[in-house]
Order: sequence, then C-alpha cells, then structure tokens
Amino acid sequence: MAVDRYDAVVVGGGPAGSAAAYTLAVAGKKVCLIDKSEFPRDKLCGGGLTFRSKREFERVFKRRWKADLINSSQDVSFFSRGRFLASYKVRASIHFTTRFSFDHYLLGLAEAAGATLKLGRAVSDIDLQRQSITLRSGEEIAFGFLIGADGVNSLVAKALFGQSFDPARIAFALEAEVPRDRLPHQGDRVEIDFSAARWGYGWVFPKQETITIGIGGLHRLNPDLRDSLDAYFRQKGLDSRDFKVKGQYLPGGGYRVIPGRANVLLCGDAAGAVDPISGEGIPFALQTGAAAGAAIATALSQPAGRSALETYCDDYRNVVAVLRRGKFWRWFVYPRVVQRIFAWIFGCEPIRKWMLVGT
Ligand SMILES: Cc1cc2nc3c(=O)[nH]c(=O)nc-3n(C[C@H](O)[C@H](O)[C@H](O)COP(=O)(O)OP(=O)(O)OC[C@H]3O[C@@H](n4cnc5c(N)ncnc54)[C@H](O)[C@@H]3O)c2cc1C
Repeated sequence: MAVDRYDAVVVGGGPAGSAAAYTLAVAGKKVCLIDKSEFPRDKLCGGGLTFRSKREFERVFKRRWKADLINSSQDVSFFSRGRFLASYKVRASIHFTTRFSFDHYLLGLAEAAGATLKLGRAVSDIDLQRQSITLRSGEEIAFGFLIGADGVNSLVAKALFGQSFDPARIAFALEAEVPRDRLPHQGDRVEIDFSAARWGYGWVFPKQETITIGIGGLHRLNPDLRDSLDAYFRQKGLDSRDFKVKGQYLPGGGYRVIPGRANVLLCGDAAGAVDPISGEGIPFALQTGAAAGAAIATALSQPAGRSALETYCDDYRNVVAVLRRGKFWRWFVYPRVVQRIFAWIFGCEPIRKWMLVGT
C-alpha cells in the first residue's frame, strides 16, 4: 500500500492541534491532522476562556471568535468550605464555551486554511526512526515533522520520553454538567472554592445550556477526590449521583522543559503547558500549537537554518516563564495555612472594604 507523506503530521485536534495545523496550512505547507474522535466531540473541560485565551485566539486565527459559541460573565464569588467569602465584579468578562462546539469550530478553521483532516482514526504506533505513524486501521503515514498535540495522555510524548506525564506532578479533575433548571438562582455567577480540594479548587462555571460543576487538585494529595466532589455538590443542594460525573488528568505544573526532540515537537497538554494555579490550558495550547507550527514552517522554508525545535524553544520559553511564575505563586494560594489566612481576611468585613473587595 502506498504511504502518504506530509511535511507535518499533527496528532490531536484540540486547540493545540488546530492552532498548529492552521499555522502550517496558512504557511502553505502540506499538513495532516489526525484525531481519534469524530468531531464535534466532547472534551472534559470547564470551558473557561480568560482574556489570555481571547488574546491568543485572535493572535493565532486573526479574527474575533464566533460570539454565538460564548457565554460571558462578570460576577465571580469566592468561597471556603462552602462559606461565602466575597464577590468581585471583574472588569474584563470571563467567557465560557463548550469544547464540543469550540474545538469543532477551531478544527473547521484549520481545514478551511488547507489542512487535511483524518478524524475518527487513532494513532496506535509511532516509529521515530522511519518517521512514520500507524493508525489503528493499519494505515501508515510518513512525516517530515511530527507534532504531538494529543493531550495529557500523549502517545507522542510517551514515544519520546517513555511516559506521557510525571505521575507525581499530575493533577486530576472531576466534573459534571448540571442543567440550568437544577440551579435556578445561579444565573451567570462564577464560583471558586479554594478549599474544595487539596492543592486545587472547586468551580461553578455557567455555560449557555448547562452549569459545569467541578473539582480538581494534585492527584497524589487527593486520593478521595470523588468524596470531595460529592461534598461540593451537597453544598449546592445537589446529589452528584444524579449527574454524569467524568474525570481526567490535567497537567498541574509538570511541564516539559524541552518540548520535543529532533523533528518531533510537543504542544498543549502533551507538553504539560497548563497554568499550575488555575489549571487553565486553552491559551497555552493555542500559543504552543501555533508556535510549533510556525517553527516547522520556517524550518521547511529554510532547511539550512536553525532547527524547528530550536526556534520553537525560543517561543516556548515565554510560556514556561508564565508557568514557572504560577508554580511559585501557588505556594501563596494552596497551603492550608495560607487558605485559613485568606478565609479570615476575606471574611473580615473592614479588611474586605479596605481592599475594595466585595459587592
Ligand atoms: C476537568 C478539566 C477542566 C478544565 N477546565 C479548563 C478551563 O476552564 N479553561 C482552560 O483554559 N483549560 C481548562 N482545562 C485544561 C484544558 O482542557 C486543556 O489544557 C486543553 O484541552 C489542552 O488542549 P490540547 O489541544 O493540548 O489537548 P486536548 O484538548 O486534550 O486535545 C487532544 C486531542 O488529541 C486526541 N488524541 C489523543 N490521543 C490520540 C491518538 N492516539 N490518536 C489520535 N488522536 C488522539 C484527542 O481525541 C483530543 O481531541 C481543563 C481540564 C480539565 C481536565
């Protein structure tokens, strides 16, 4: 059977993969994106899009995002062990989307730019020496460059480094979608509870049709995360057993220092590019995906120049600087003693007023 060959093959059609494929296609390169799922597909996620996601989306795709995919909120309330602490009216809205529609939209932009999509086809084997991948169907595809944008359980990262992530540093999260009529007074209020999990937090994120309730924290410190989720639901007057609860790992500060090797680059969750405090990963997926695509496009156009990995590392260092800051600052957010101080400060009316916190 003849083997198809592409300048670059991207494994994974999340935000990182779509940003990479879009960037390569716009640069006129022959790029193929492969995902094991048919799209639209679900991806466990709070769907929170901060100013950073908006900025990266606009920078990468050079347009404003489709407004009908987005729900926005300005009200954020903080809790500790279910006890109300304070509310903020944030100046720049926080946005929410469903990954079902958002990722499908991004993938469409990559395809419209010229990327070939192979969906519903899982990559089952990667041969780094022969520079080819094999799909579960048996189809073989050869690549000049390979981008691992295949998420937290990355097969590409495993092929390069022996494991997808460091189990000591990974976080885990549980989430369920709650129909809006089960929380009729929630409106579009965002809630964060820093005591809902150890070295993590609980969240209530309002989407268009549903409200996402979730909880996540460092995996090794939360062996009883399901119990913590049940307690969090009870605080909202809900029984978690009434909803479909799903769980997934998410990188919690264990990012790759060198995101790749030779002609294979990792981006997004596959590189561990997730904020160690908030768990926010979409902007870093967009940023690293586009940077990996641009670095490969440059290397293909200037074969005698710097390697794609070297060029990618220059951009990736900016992401690492943000993630490293997050790793430092989480020591001022997550230890129990700090949370008690926070709870006391927020709970103390005069201090709260002095800090201009509260509505
Ligand atoms: C519970 C939870 C809540 C979160 N909430 C937020 C939030 O509110 N805001 C935020 O910014 N971030 C959030 N994140 C993080 C965010 O979801 C990720 O950082 C982001 O999805 C990373 O994008 P990605 O493109 O790297 O990977 P993914 O979005 O995971 O995409 C990887 C793709 O690779 C495909 N794939 C995997 N293996 C193979 C294979 N062998 N062959 C072919 N295809 C394959 C998958 O099907 C998938 O489509 C959350 C994460 C979790 C777990």
